[in-house]
Amino acid sequence: MNATTETLANQTLARPNFDVDKIRADFPILSREVYGKPLVFLDSAASAMKPRQVVDTIRDVYENDYSNVHRGIHYLSQRCTDRFEAARETVARFLKVKDSDNLIFTKGATEGLNLVAQCYARSTLKPGDEILISELEHHSNIVPWQMVAQATGAVIKAIPILDDGQIDLEAYLALLNERTKIVAITQVSNALGTVTPLAQMIPAAHAVGAKVVVDGCQATPHMALDLPAMDCDFFAFSGHKVYGPNGIGVLYGKPELLAAMPPYQGGGEMIDFVSITESTYKDAPHKFEAGTPPIVEAIALGTAIDYVTEIGLEAIAAHEHDLVEYAMDQLAQIPEVTLHGTAPGKASIVSFTWKGAHAHDVGTIIDRAGVAVRVGHHCAQPLMDRLGVASTARASFGMYNTRAEVDRLVRSLDDVRTIFA
Ligand code: PMP
Repeated sequence: MNATTETLANQTLARPNFDVDKIRADFPILSREVYGKPLVFLDSAASAMKPRQVVDTIRDVYENDYSNVHRGIHYLSQRCTDRFEAARETVARFLKVKDSDNLIFTKGATEGLNLVAQCYARSTLKPGDEILISELEHHSNIVPWQMVAQATGAVIKAIPILDDGQIDLEAYLALLNERTKIVAITQVSNALGTVTPLAQMIPAAHAVGAKVVVDGCQATPHMALDLPAMDCDFFAFSGHKVYGPNGIGVLYGKPELLAAMPPYQGGGEMIDFVSITESTYKDAPHKFEAGTPPIVEAIALGTAIDYVTEIGLEAIAAHEHDLVEYAMDQLAQIPEVTLHGTAPGKASIVSFTWKGAHAHDVGTIIDRAGVAVRVGHHCAQPLMDRLGVASTARASFGMYNTRAEVDRLVRSLDDVRTIFA
């Protein structure tokens, strides 16, 4: 590292209210060691660590307020139901959604996307209708559409990307036609960090009468969101990527679409009336939440959202943007490294390959230096095919990462050079 980058690495960026040391103190796991080295956790895109406040909420609910929700008249049941529904309100404020009834608790983005595919698409698509999905998509936003296409005779078409990982907007606009019924698109690529141009894509889809399903999994931890302004028809995310617990996610749907959709799971608490042969259903969101929901997880998701909101998504985005730029800059100086995905304005993710070494070897070697990155196809095999690689190493940043950790990543790659020299 030269003197200039050393100075940059130590620079404290002037951002009011953003104190990375204070944030790190809320995440005890970040202070642990692995293989005798301080952990550098660069795998938040797979799942983010949880602040103490989220863990405290989980303990607090189980120790003080736990009961099943929506089905008891006793004190604790009502208390827990209030906390559960308050979490739905918190999510609504987070996404700027006016009516929290348009938010369904799921077990994650995968379940949300499958719910749209099975409850909306399956009952509306006809043979020859077209579903557009981009080459950037996570398997969760590919496979459910394949299942629906097979069941309905609809056809899947790929929205191509440019070599730097951006959506090919011209090609997208050319693909849209009156047969296009669904555009399923990620807001941020989990493998490359590309932010997709939804402001152009969504109105263009609506102009041909298509509905837009946004996979917001990698967006929610990294940028301020406003779903009414975005005007998507559906939006899914997972709690565990936004510093909340596992096993909880949220699906937003426009009210008229949710009202018309049949549920795909039947069971307790989603019905108004049941006889042996037929039932009537509650309105959304309850008709899509059959059975006992992930109660404590939903409440703790509310705490996670309060946590990031308090710090401020704009401040988080600015901090992470700085880390991405710094990491790209450092990695670009290493001759053996090829960066994949260099779209402008990328969010929080840097993907790379090492000349002559498999990504799994790179990941294993730097793991021994305490640096945790994800290696593989990142559940995005069509994207890997498009890039012409089998796998990449991916460093993904959360609000708790630092430039000094980027330096540790860069230094750990010296070990890869030594071994593969
Ligand atoms: N979409 C994207 C872009 C993702 O990154 C992920 C998680 N890697 C998913 C969907 C699926 O999320 P989950 O496994 O939490 O359902």
